[in-house]
Amino acid sequence: MEEFDVVVAGGGPGGSTVASLVAMQGHRVLLLEKEVFPRYQIGESLLPSTVHGVCRMLGVTDELAAAGFPVKRGGTFRWGARPEPWTFSFSVSPRITGPTTYAYQVERARFDEILLNNAKRKGVVVREGHSVTEVIEDGERVTGLRYVGPDGGEHAVSARFVIDASGNKSRLYSSVGGTRNYSEFFRSLALFGYFEGGKRLAAPYSGNILSVAFDSGWFWYIPLSDTLTSVGAVVRREMAEKIQGDREKALTALIAECPLISEYLAPARRVTTGKYGQLRVRKDYSYHQTTFWRPGMILVGDAACFVDPVFSSGVHLATYSGLLAARSINSILAGDVDEKTALIEFETRYRREYSVYYEFLLAFYQMNVNEESYFWHAKKVTNNKEYSELESFVDLVGGLSSGEAALAASGRIAERSAEFAAAIDEMADGDDASMVPLFKSQVVKQVMQEGGQEQMRAVLGEDAEPELPLFPGGLVTSPDGMRWLPYRPA
Ligand code: FAD
Repeated sequence: MEEFDVVVAGGGPGGSTVASLVAMQGHRVLLLEKEVFPRYQIGESLLPSTVHGVCRMLGVTDELAAAGFPVKRGGTFRWGARPEPWTFSFSVSPRITGPTTYAYQVERARFDEILLNNAKRKGVVVREGHSVTEVIEDGERVTGLRYVGPDGGEHAVSARFVIDASGNKSRLYSSVGGTRNYSEFFRSLALFGYFEGGKRLAAPYSGNILSVAFDSGWFWYIPLSDTLTSVGAVVRREMAEKIQGDREKALTALIAECPLISEYLAPARRVTTGKYGQLRVRKDYSYHQTTFWRPGMILVGDAACFVDPVFSSGVHLATYSGLLAARSINSILAGDVDEKTALIEFETRYRREYSVYYEFLLAFYQMNVNEESYFWHAKKVTNNKEYSELESFVDLVGGLSSGEAALAASGRIAERSAEFAAAIDEMADGDDASMVPLFKSQVVKQVMQEGGQEQMRAVLGEDAEPELPLFPGGLVTSPDGMRWLPYRPA
């Protein structure tokens, strides 16, 4: 049987990230990918923390810049009671500076291939067209994988660690134990396709994602080139019949329900050939596994959890969890930290990131039915005379001007999550749909600060501020971001 330090199932952003960051520390990594790249995937709108944090660590910054992906400076929303679209720009946040004030809109076939090819250059042995079938166990521990090659031949590989980064359709995750809990709230369905010749927002926001709420749900409208647009309708579960039957008719009818998207698509024609020719449906995509690891096995990306397409958190969660898993494995293989301690650190941080997005998006959807506008409340909360209402919103939702220190105790995480939940309840019960309690929540501030820290670390490298552990006995990140270190107070 072949032997590696780490074997990764799945070559999406999560798998490529963890594989590369472990191989970059000199360990032997095998990545098995079922498809042959480039392959289609949904999830095209990225966040700055992926582009300027994780991708910079991976060493693909220049390659991404050269790829010519549309630059995403922020988001434009027709959301809530405000009838006009409103826009936020990443540059409004004082914490996201100069070179990191944007993300990209990417054709995932190209983006994922860049990350996978980079993994090969970093020393990962990548086998495309190889499908993992099951884990190999020795008692409690996962010790390897069985997989099938392109010729149908069966193989087995042993490794100190198995990573399941095989996305949301694979069943491999169940070997980690626990259960996959589906969200009761985010039970929407998505119907999506591609159009040529759609309108663009005015410069400098022509690369923004446009998200438009309408009676049955909301649309995303993502520019993937000067002429190609990804268009998807996210439809509430109770409206599910609207996307049953003929998909072409269903999408046409949904577009007709939404005046702004109709206007943007007026000059466009739907792509009907090639990888973008199909109309696709996704459902049951919002879930989390009750445990993210067991001895010898770690879940990364969609294999572990996903919340909802709004605010484009999927690739962020996949690459961020890949980074957290790589730190843990690098520390364990270097003999710096024991496995349990390192993987508790991985799970705590990953689960917190997921939970905060979950709670924030829950509130964002509740806002959809409220009567007040986001900006007005944000400005009221910050009382910042220099900022416009829009800038106040971005500053607050970004949580980047708070200067809030990293969490110091796990008890406080729970306390602050409870505070966040209470804030949502307060808003839901209030007559004026005030956003004030939400924006005061430390949880919102902290998660955004965490994203800011990853970017800061990428930009400043070893000069970044020293970090505090997330919980008592927790670990801190090494200056280069590649490992955990025990916390030693100054
Ligand atoms: P994937 O990208 O799914 O990669 C998993 C890989 O594993 C695949 O290449 C697959 O071929 C391979 N694989 C599967 N089974 C096996 C096997 N048995 N053996 C070997 N390989 C295997 N996210 C965003 O950031 N922005 C967005 O705008 C966005 N929009 C979305 C819209 C919708 C409707 C949905 C449902 C999701 C959206 N997402 C978005 C989420 C995004 O698609 C995912 O979160 C992201 O792709 C997860 O990356 P991953 O690496 O975990 O998995």
